[in-house]
Amino acid sequence: MKAAPVPPDDLQKKRLRELPAVDEMLAAARSDPAFARVPAAVLVASIRAAIEAERRRILANDGGARAPGPADGPLMERAKQAVRQAMMPNLRRVVNATGVVIHTNLGRSLLAEEAVERMLAVAGRYSNLEYDLAAGRRGSRYSAVRDLLCEITGAEDAMVVNNNAGAVLISLETIARGRSVVVSRGDLVEIGGSFRIPDVMAKSGAILKEVGTTNRTHLRDYEDAIDPQTALLLKVHWSNYSIIGFTAQVPLAELAALGSRHGVPVMEDLGSGTFVDFSKYGLRKEPTVQESVAGGADVVTFSGDKLLGGPQAGIIVGRTAMVERIRKNPINRALRIDKLTLAALEGTLRLYRDEPRALTAIPTLRMLTATEESLAARARDLTRLLAALADARLSTDTVQLSSKAGGGSLPLLELPSRCLKLRIAGMSANALEAKLRRNDPPVIGRIEDDAFVMDMRTVQEDELAIIAAAISSVLGAT
Ligand SMILES: *Cc1c(COP(=O)(O)O)cnc(C)c1O
Repeated sequence: MKAAPVPPDDLQKKRLRELPAVDEMLAAARSDPAFARVPAAVLVASIRAAIEAERRRILANDGGARAPGPADGPLMERAKQAVRQAMMPNLRRVVNATGVVIHTNLGRSLLAEEAVERMLAVAGRYSNLEYDLAAGRRGSRYSAVRDLLCEITGAEDAMVVNNNAGAVLISLETIARGRSVVVSRGDLVEIGGSFRIPDVMAKSGAILKEVGTTNRTHLRDYEDAIDPQTALLLKVHWSNYSIIGFTAQVPLAELAALGSRHGVPVMEDLGSGTFVDFSKYGLRKEPTVQESVAGGADVVTFSGDKLLGGPQAGIIVGRTAMVERIRKNPINRALRIDKLTLAALEGTLRLYRDEPRALTAIPTLRMLTATEESLAARARDLTRLLAALADARLSTDTVQLSSKAGGGSLPLLELPSRCLKLRIAGMSANALEAKLRRNDPPVIGRIEDDAFVMDMRTVQEDELAIIAAAISSVLGAT
C-alpha cells in the first residue's frame, strides 16, 4: 500500500504560496526575447511544468524548501530549458564519426548538393510531377528518371518505388503470384530490419522453390526445378555476407541463358546496386547494375540509398514487357515514390553521367574512395583545432583503424582509415560519449580501449569545427 502523503508543514505552505502564478510568469516571459517566436501553447506548458517541478521540490523538502524566487528568476530559467527542449526538432542532423559510411541508423546516404538543390526546387512549389508539359496533359511520374536510368544502365525500361524491399515485393507479386520461383539456398538471405527473402516471397503470394545447397548451387539444380509452374528464376546478391571456401554460384549470364531456353524470366535483386565498378578504385569488386542488365536479367532491383548514394528508393530496371506489368500493378499505388525523393534521385542520377564527377560530388562515393592521405590530413586538422583549446586534461592520438561500408554493402571490406582517439582526464570514455551524443548537433563515435574514437572517413570537412566546439563545451562544463 502507498503511504499517505505527509501534509505540508508551515514553511512548505509558505513556500507554496510564494510560487509565482502562471499568468505572472507569462507576463514576464512576454518581455523576454528568448521566448519571442515560441507558440503560446508551448510557453504555457513549459511554465506550468517549471512551476509543477518547483512545487514538487518544495513538498519533497529538496534544498530545505528554499524560496522559489521571483517570476523572472531561476524558475524562468527552467521554463526556458523546457521551451528549448520542446522547440528542438525530433529528427535532427548528427555528426557521424563512426566510420560506417552507409549507416542505416544515421540515415544511410547523404545527398549530394545537386540532389538537395533538386529537392528544394520543387518542395515549396508546384511541379510537373505527373504533367506532360509538351503535350499539356497528364504525364508519368517516372519520366523524371526513366530515361536517365535507361541511359546509365543500358536497360530498356525503368521505374522506381519507395524502397528496394518494395521493389522486390512488387516484382515477385507481379511476375510470380500463385506460381513458383526458383532460388538457390545460398540466396535465401536476411537483410537487417527483418527483410527475409522467404518471407517476402510468401507475402508476394509466390511459391518458393529452393534448389542447391548453402555453399554450392549449379546450373542443373535450377534446370531440374523448372516445370510448368515456374514463373521466375531469382538471384539475390549476397550484399551483407559472404561464403568463402568450397563454393559455387551460377553466373547471371548462364542463368539468363537457361531462362531464355525455357521461356522463364530471370530476376536479380542486387540489394545495394552500384553503377560504379569499385575495383577500379582499389576496392572490392561489386557487381554493377550495368553488368546485370548486360548479363540478360529481365528484371533488376536495387536500393537508391546504399552504394548509389541517393535518397531512399527502390529502383527497378529491365525489359519493357516486365517493367510495364510491374508499373500497372495496383500495389504500385501503395509503394509510390514521393516527389521529393524523385527530385533527389534525378539530381543524383544526373551526376552519374560523368563518373569522375560522381565520385567527388556524391558523398557516399567520396567517402568510400577517400585516400588515406586525405583522411590523415583531416585527422591533423582536427588535432590542431583541439590543441587550440589548450586544455591539459585533453589528450588526442591519431590511430590507423578501419572503416566499414555498412548498410549491408561490401561486407568484408575493411577500409584503412585514420581515427582520432580522445581521452579527457577524470572522465570515462562512456561519459564523454554520452556528452557528445547530447551535443547539438550530436557527435556519434565509438568507444575503444576506454577512449572515444572518431573515424575521419565519415566526418565531413565542415564538421571539424563542430566537433571542436562540442569538445570545448564538454571541457567547459566540467
Ligand atoms: C538492402 C537490401 C534490400 C532492401 O533494400 P531497402 O532499400 O533497404 O528496402 C533488399 N535486398 C537486398 C539484397 C538488400 O541488400
